[in-house]
Amino acid sequence: MALIDSYGRRINYLRLSVTDRCNLRCSYCMPADGIAKLAHGEMLSYEELLRVAAESVALGIEKIRITGGEPLVRKGLIGFIERLAAIPALRELVLTTNGLLLGEMALPLRRAGVGRLNISLDSLKPEVFAGITRGGDLRRVIDGIAAAEDAGFPPAKINMVVMRGVNDDELLDFAALTLRRPYTVRFIEYMPTVGGQGASALCVTGNEILERIGRRYPLLPLVSSEMAGPSRNFKISGAAGAIGIITPISGHFCDSCNRIRVSAAGLVRGCLFADGGIDLRQYLDAGDDGGLRETLRRIVTGKPGRHRLADEEAGRGSIPMSQIGG
Ligand code: SAM
Ligand code: SF4
Repeated sequence: MALIDSYGRRINYLRLSVTDRCNLRCSYCMPADGIAKLAHGEMLSYEELLRVAAESVALGIEKIRITGGEPLVRKGLIGFIERLAAIPALRELVLTTNGLLLGEMALPLRRAGVGRLNISLDSLKPEVFAGITRGGDLRRVIDGIAAAEDAGFPPAKINMVVMRGVNDDELLDFAALTLRRPYTVRFIEYMPTVGGQGASALCVTGNEILERIGRRYPLLPLVSSEMAGPSRNFKISGAAGAIGIITPISGHFCDSCNRIRVSAAGLVRGCLFADGGIDLRQYLDAGDDGGLRETLRRIVTGKPGRHRLADEEAGRGSIPMSQIGG
């Protein structure tokens, strides 16, 4: 069955957040302090997450991404993934991580049924990485990427959030990672979700990123698959890997958006920046799978044509991505 929204987009991708907790505190994702964590009982149980996943797949979702917060910090994750992977019509099960715990978890994740990993990595300089993540150890992420390869994962997609004056001097170094290794390095426009004065000045547009890389390396456009989502992909001529540009701010994003999201607290949203979302807990508590399915369908039908983050930035407070499952 195909899930089509009112703008004719085929919705086949669910981002499922399993926790709002994290072992890092990236400056673009969370404020330095003062962020309320969900109490344990407020988080959906694995049983509840499985019901949401199963109903979504029954409706037409084909790809699920496990995210957070940092998904690898939630206890019992491997058993949950095994059960998720067993949903018959689910075509793709993937996970986004900051990579810190991959050293020990890459192999169990692979064996449990995760098909591919996206790994966030915003600097190749230890001190800059520690600054962005407020204390993270770059070595562990690099080792985590190696552990993922050893565990048999396909080449990682590496996500870099580009911030002017913070890490944009590393664009060419990240692009060069794809020369000899088959990674896909995806440059993501910084979204001013945490706010603070001058936040939007940090954004480097996708076009500028492409132009700066293209001046050094000729880029060939690649065709994206239907499941790929809103990344525009390129290849440096002769490179082993690929380069992706994700432009939530400057465009080319909403038109091809194929996703819905469920937060760790059970709020389903048709758009990252939709206010509120609908609480699925009432249906989960009542054992009302029909209501659950109808609500998921309603979220698809009501999915906005585009987000208004850039227009509304001035009036918005902080929206930590760790809470909505970035
Ligand atoms: N903890 C995992 C990680 O960092 O990969 C998964 C959750 S994280 C919220 C998911 C993605 O959201 C990461 O790739 C992160 O870079 C991205 N993200 C968070 N805040 C962002 C922002 N303000 N602008 C652009 N991307 C952001
Ligand atoms: Fe944690 Fe990921 Fe947010 Fe960084 S981007 S604070 S790793 S949830």
